[in-house]
Formats: sequence, structure tokens, C-alpha cells
Amino acid sequence: MTTIRFKALGELLKREPKAVHFPSNKVTDYYGELVFNVESMRKYLSKEAFRAVMTANQKGLSVDRKMADGIAAGMKAWSIEKGATHYTHWFQPLTDGTAEKHDGFIDYGDGGHMIENFSGSLLAQQEPDASSFPSGGIRQTFEARGYTAWDVSSPAFIVGTTLCIPTIFISYTGEALDYKAPLLKALAAVDEAAVSVCQYFDKNVTKVHTNLGWEQEYFLIDEALYLARPDLVLTGRTLMGHSSSKDQQLDDHYFGSIPERVTAFMMELEVECHKLGIPVKTRHNEVAPNQFELAPIYEEANLANDHNQLVMDVMKKVARHHKFRVLFHEKPFAGINGSGKHNNWSLGTDTGVVLLAPGKNPKANIQFLTFVVNTLMAVYKNQDLLRASILTASNSHRLGANEAPPSIVSAFLGDEVSSMLDRIVEEVGERKMTPDEKTALKLGIGRIPEIILDNTDRNRTSPFAFTGNRFEFRAVGSSVNNAAAMTALSAAVAVELKEFKIAVDALIEQGIKKDEAIFQVLKKMIIECKPIRFNGDGYSEDWVVEAKKRGLTNITSVPESILKYLDPASKKSLIESGVMTEKELHARVEVELEKFTKKIQIEARVLGDLAINHIVPTAVAYQTKLIQNVQGLRDIFTNSEYEDLSGARKELIKEISVHISSIKAKVREMVDARKECNVLKEGMEMAVAYDEKVRPYLSSIRYHIDKLELVVDNEMWPLPKYRELLFNN
Ligand code: ADP
Ligand code: MG
Repeated sequence: MTTIRFKALGELLKREPKAVHFPSNKVTDYYGELVFNVESMRKYLSKEAFRAVMTANQKGLSVDRKMADGIAAGMKAWSIEKGATHYTHWFQPLTDGTAEKHDGFIDYGDGGHMIENFSGSLLAQQEPDASSFPSGGIRQTFEARGYTAWDVSSPAFIVGTTLCIPTIFISYTGEALDYKAPLLKALAAVDEAAVSVCQYFDKNVTKVHTNLGWEQEYFLIDEALYLARPDLVLTGRTLMGHSSSKDQQLDDHYFGSIPERVTAFMMELEVECHKLGIPVKTRHNEVAPNQFELAPIYEEANLANDHNQLVMDVMKKVARHHKFRVLFHEKPFAGINGSGKHNNWSLGTDTGVVLLAPGKNPKANIQFLTFVVNTLMAVYKNQDLLRASILTASNSHRLGANEAPPSIVSAFLGDEVSSMLDRIVEEVGERKMTPDEKTALKLGIGRIPEIILDNTDRNRTSPFAFTGNRFEFRAVGSSVNNAAAMTALSAAVAVELKEFKIAVDALIEQGIKKDEAIFQVLKKMIIECKPIRFNGDGYSEDWVVEAKKRGLTNITSVPESILKYLDPASKKSLIESGVMTEKELHARVEVELEKFTKKIQIEARVLGDLAINHIVPTAVAYQTKLIQNVQGLRDIFTNSEYEDLSGARKELIKEISVHISSIKAKVREMVDARKECNVLKEGMEMAVAYDEKVRPYLSSIRYHIDKLELVVDNEMWPLPKYRELLFNN
């Protein structure tokens, strides 16, 4: 056979696991060797420069410009020793992925000779042309400049021969054009609000940091097969393909033994991550065939997120060494599980306390419950904002599809913490509590730790689940930048904590004792946010009905969900916390809507092309063979024998005709629908039109193609089938 599909299958037979080179038997020998970390800074920076970086870091400030030259010189010396020839400001524009423009160190020296140059100003700030990145209207055409500015809190690192400096990306007029700038502001807002709440419990707390541990799910597909699927190459998912006779129904993939070729990929990936100081730790098979997961030890959220962005890049590179391609799309294959990126989120103090973990005594546990309740309340009030932060064109295939939390936002607490909250509601009265009542309540609260340790109940169906010392935000998509979700959550929690503090202070002002004031405010909040608490099966139909009764929102339309960024509740969280300005928020909405529209537009084009240029000709060719066969039957048999023998084949010829005609008609209609949408001027209008008028064709055309796949001669089918893509490693 000459088709690329069979060539690809031939390639597959020759694949061998690739040998992996370990720099040393001990990971600690090479861990972080490509990072300009504290250790390297100590070695390459002057005492003053070193101190300047550390202070900026601790205080969340930018580094003193006077020190920048010295720091740049140290960074240059370190990186050149490691083989770097170029440097780049590495940033996270509002696309899926990171951006970099490499500049060589070489420059003319004063005497006109060549030198290696990297000054403080080059380190601190650059001016990439912002016009090639989405800006949602912030960037006027006459002012295309944007700035990237060094994020001191995330250390520089080397990829290949390039020194990469993590930066924020803002417009000439100071608005954020990236994911990192708002995230940093949101983390600072939580820090400030949480520190002031912590003062009720421990005066020594001066900083609260956010922790993030992401779990990255992905698919690995053989390179040759991937390249034979234009839909995978161009859209990241299969736009057609009948399900394999066997896929995940035997539940035999999750935690199963990892195939050798994949293990080799994972080992090399881990080595590369460890050199970059990314603490990846866990690897395993996921539920679907050829689906896997990678997770690190959690880190400070901004760094963790940089690491996740970097890991996605490294994964793509390493996959190629092993003749794989990695798919980050949330739903690359219809009918089997898609991929997400659980965001394990918690807050921790500079005194070493994890605020979302139960403590050792009643006081610590009141603090724990305070943060749990504030988080619940933030989630309750910001259901729509949180959904807006995670619902994208690709993630919408996954949410609510029997494998991932639905489009209803709810929080799982487990029975123990739930009953503790109910107990506060019952035992805290309107009047002043007696010392005995207080002691009883505190004693009850003091028993949380043992209870939780015993509690192994893990609800996998909740979009936002408490898991003992953190919440897991599970609705985040596998392909996205976590910062969008972490920014929304942090802003919401920051505003809630601030309000909590104001409410408690007001009661204290009235002469109510601190602990009782806290209990009273918590009680009110627990009652108010009760609808968000759900410990049952989030995948069930009953939950949809029940959630509606509770008044929770359930939005499945992506454009509608994105628009919720502009609702009063969302604005309150994002703008009041100082995370975004009104202008930035509107710009963000524009960008998200445009991304949605473009994704659907591209999918529609690719499907139209494949349908007309690959599928229809194949079906016609097979049909012609059948027709020739039927004509042959007539030549050699008597009339009655012929009628007998040709019936089924004639039916098949008809069936194929129906599918071909339907495909052609629907592709034409889809093109017309696109034309109608494309003349619409306004972003929201166009996104809604694409969602309602174009998107449905993706499944209706696919239906006919998948039916054809079932009947057309396997030898003639041009695209690798699901069973080939999914069962081969
Ligand atoms: P699973 O949820 O699959 O059982 P793990 O227990 O391995 O996964 O943890 C998943 C992620 O959660 C890891 O990145 C881990 O470091 C992180 N994690 C653990 N504790 C916390 C915490 N207190 N705050 C934030 N992340 C945490
Ligand atoms: Mg998890």
C-alpha cells in the first residue's frame, strides 16, 4: 500500500526503546545544574548583588537598577561557562505556550571588536514587538511596543544554548499582556489579606505564600502515525475516527505497567526536568490507553507555574527524541477519557504552617477552619469566575463528559470537615457563649487531625476537592496556563479574607472576644455558602437537578462562560484585589473569545478539507470497486442468482452514497455558516455564532465519516484508526 497510513504502521514495527543517558546515578549530582539558583548566585555574584536579589525576592519587589549590571555580569559568566551563547526574555503571552526571542551575547565593544555583552538593562527590561501577540485591543497599532521585565522571584535557567530569563509582559502603557503579571498581583493580594487574618492566631506571621502542585495529564502518540493525521497536527485532536473495539472498558491501563518506549521517554524527561530544577516525582499511566501523568512536588505557585509551562515545552522536545508526539489537548479522542491538569492549591506561612492542613491544637484548627471557610465562600461567590478561568473550546469537550467534573462548580469537603462546620453552626448561638460551650467546641475542633488522617475518602468527581491539606482544583484543562485559574482563585480568596477580617474586627470593636467573634462570622459564612458543598457523585444526573435547586450556576456555553469575567462578582474579585484593571479585564475577555472563535474556525476548516479531499475520494473509490463487482456478478450469473447475490452489496453502495452526499452537503453548509459568522463585527457575537452555527457541523459531519470508516475497505482507509493510534507503544 502506498498510503501514508501504512507507511506509518511500517515505521511502528521498527521502533525500539531509546537508551537514556543519566548524568550520574544520583539525581542530586545534577539537580538544578541549569538554574541560576541561590547556590550559583552565591558563587557568581558579589555580596551586594546577591543580597539585592534575595531582598527583592523576599519583599516581592523588583531588583534595584543600580545592582542590575553586576547581576547581569554574574549571570552571563555562569551561563557562558555552561555553554550559553544567547539570552532571551522568556514570557507567557495570552496564547497556549511561552514566547522567546533569542539574542546573541555578541556585540561590538568600544574599540569596534567583538565582545560578549549582557548588561543590566538587557537583563531588566526588553521591548519585544507586542503586535504579534494577542492584546485584546490594549495595544494600539501606533504603539506596538510592549515591555518584558525580569521576574526576580523565578530564577533564570538554560535551555540548549540559551539563557532564559522569566519575565512579565506588559504594554507600553503598563497593562498586562500575559498570564504572569496578573498571577503575581493575585499572589501578592492573597499574601497581604492572609497575613492580616493570620495575626488573629500568630503575630509572628509576616508572609503567606501560595503553593501549587500540578498534575499534568497527556497522551503520547507515535510520531509517524501522528504525522499521518492532519487533524492531530493542526488541531491537537482527532476530528474523526470510529472508536476502537477495545479502548478503556477493561480498566486495564490506569497504573498499569508502563511500556518500555514510554518509560525511556519518561526517564529522559525526568533527567531534563531535574537539571532544570523542576522537582518532578510521580509518573504513571492514566485511565485511557496511551495516556499518562506527570507530577512534581509542589512549589510556590508562581515558580510552580513557570515550571509547568517549561515542562510542557521540554516534554514536546523529549518526545521527539523518542519518536513520539505529546498531546496536551483536553480531548484528543472522542469516547475515551480526556486530560486535565489538577491544581493542588494551598497556603503556607513563613512560620511553616500549611493553612489548609489541620493543626495540632484547637487554636491551629480554628485557623485551619477559618481558611477552609473563606475558601469555600470565595468559591461560592465566584463560581462563574472560576468557570470562566478554565472553560475553553478544548476543555468544553471534557467537562461533564463522564470523566471530569461538570460545568457546575462545587466543593467536596469530606464528611469530617463537613460535620465540623455543621457543628459550628449548631453550637455557636446568637448570645454570648459560656466558657463551657466554648471549651466543648474547641475540644471538638482540636480532634480534627486524627479524624482526617483516618479519612481516606477521596471524591474524584468534584471540581474542587479538599484532600487533607489542600484543595484540588480539578477542572483545569491539560493544555492551558494554570495562571488563569490560580489568578481567579487567589483574587477571590484575597477579597474574601479581607471581608472576613473587616467583619471580625467590627465584632471585636463591639466588645466581643476574638475567638467568639471569629466563630460568629464563620457561622454566618458557613450557612451562606452551604449550597457550594457537595460530597456526592458530581458525574450523576441527579446532581444537575439538585444543583439547580440550590441555585448554583451551570454554564456549558464557552462564550457565555467567558463573558462572566465581566459580571459584578468577578469584577469585585479581580478589580478590588488590584489584580486587574477594568481595561485589562475587558481585553482579557476579548482575547479569550477570539481564541475560542479561532479554534472552532480552524477545526471547521481542517475537517472540511479532510472530508472532501481524503474521505470522500476514498469512499468513492471503494464504491466504484463495489459497483464494478456488482456489474461483474451480473455478467457471470443468471438474473435470479444475480438478484440474490448482489442485494447486500447494492445496499452498501446506497449507504455509501448517502454518507457521501451528506458529507458534501454539510461541508457546503458549514462553509456558508462560517461566511455568515465572519462578517460579524463584535467578538462576543462572533464567538456565539461560531458556537451555535458552526460547531454543530463538527459532530454531524464526523458522524458520517465514522460510519464510512466502518464499511470502507481497511486497506483503502487513509487515516490511522483509533486502534492504531492508541494501542501501539
Ligand atoms: P494524587 O492527588 O493523585 O493522590 P499526590 O498526592 O501525588 O496526588 O499529589 C498531587 C500533587 O499535590 C503533588 O504535586 C503534591 O506535591 C501536591 N501537594 C501535596 N500537598 C500539597 C499542599 N499542601 N499544597 C499544594 N500541593 C500539595
Ligand atoms: Mg490529585
